[in-house]
Amino acid sequence: MEKDIIIVGAGPIGIACGIEAKTRGLSELIIEKGCLTNSIYHFPTNLVFFSTPDLLELAGVPFITSGPKPTRVEILTYYKRLTQSFALDVHLFERVEKIEKQDGRFLVYTNKAETPYRARFVVLAIGFYDHPNMLNVPGEDLPKVTHYYKEAHLYYNQKVAVIGGQNSAVEAALEVYRAGAAEVTLIHRDSTLGRSVKYWIRPDIENRIKEGSIKAYFNARVVGIREDAIVVEQKDRGRFELENDFVLAMTGYHPDYRFLQNVGVQLDPETQKPIYNPQTMETTLENVYIAGVACGGKHDINKIFIENGREHARLILEDIQSKLAAK
Ligand code: NAP
Repeated sequence: MEKDIIIVGAGPIGIACGIEAKTRGLSELIIEKGCLTNSIYHFPTNLVFFSTPDLLELAGVPFITSGPKPTRVEILTYYKRLTQSFALDVHLFERVEKIEKQDGRFLVYTNKAETPYRARFVVLAIGFYDHPNMLNVPGEDLPKVTHYYKEAHLYYNQKVAVIGGQNSAVEAALEVYRAGAAEVTLIHRDSTLGRSVKYWIRPDIENRIKEGSIKAYFNARVVGIREDAIVVEQKDRGRFELENDFVLAMTGYHPDYRFLQNVGVQLDPETQKPIYNPQTMETTLENVYIAGVACGGKHDINKIFIENGREHARLILEDIQSKLAAK
């Protein structure tokens, strides 16, 4: 099978690239190792997005939501309908294992196809949600520790530690507290809550901390996790233990840098940021493009959202189209 473009990843930005390709008369194949919009599917069940629906729209198709901000389920439905109506060719639950170049064509090997798919261009829209920032402390592999918060009910009457000081940590701590956790403790390595905590969430968490219903330790790190306790190290206090049933390590995520490197994408050695041309999103590998949050490095990963990532699709397809026209 030969396509004009193979897109790795069927998140919103992969879908945006697929639609841009299709509407310009190019053939596309999107390959995704999980379900459609896999990351959003795995987000917290009751998540309400920060972005308004207009900022998540693709191809000018209106996104109608019941409230001012879309829910996870509304978003899943919207991107699924777009995939259906643009009749995008999407292979789900198929993992790209290797990409090679041969005679001006890319050969894309997966765990399912017997022979590699062929394409003239490749877009890497691989997202970041599969790769949590690990604490790298003893006990992190215990079943009571998760980097993926789903729902609060599980934590009723339990002692829960939440690690991190940005939006995921704050939202999880508040939900778990309201669901009747016996104790919620927020542990953050910095001296204050993160600057990106949304202005409508911040007073809620600050007041819960002030009144003592959520306990917070700043300048503190979890340095060990056991079945019944965690070990915390705080700047001025040193080490101490807290009784604990569950740990929500809301420490953020990063793209699969190893996959990018295996494909041959060059990364900045300090920030791990892929090297690409911001006007076209082309990497240092000719005809290999990068889109969405995958193009962020250590310092700017959380500056790329669907609302600005979708613009990458236009830049990429404009470049591809102009290359094809020049031939
Ligand atoms: P994040 O913004 O990357 O925050 C990660 C937090 O974990 C930071 O406080 C960080 O500390 C801390 N951390 C990282 N590595 C650590 C380590 N090894 N040990 C201890 N602490 C560590 O991640 P996030 O809150 O999951 O947000 C990710 C993205 O999702 C953001 O773009 C956010 O806006 C978005 N989000 C959206 C919604 C929504 O739409 N409703 C909800 C939640 C998140 P420092 O602050 O010191 O770096």
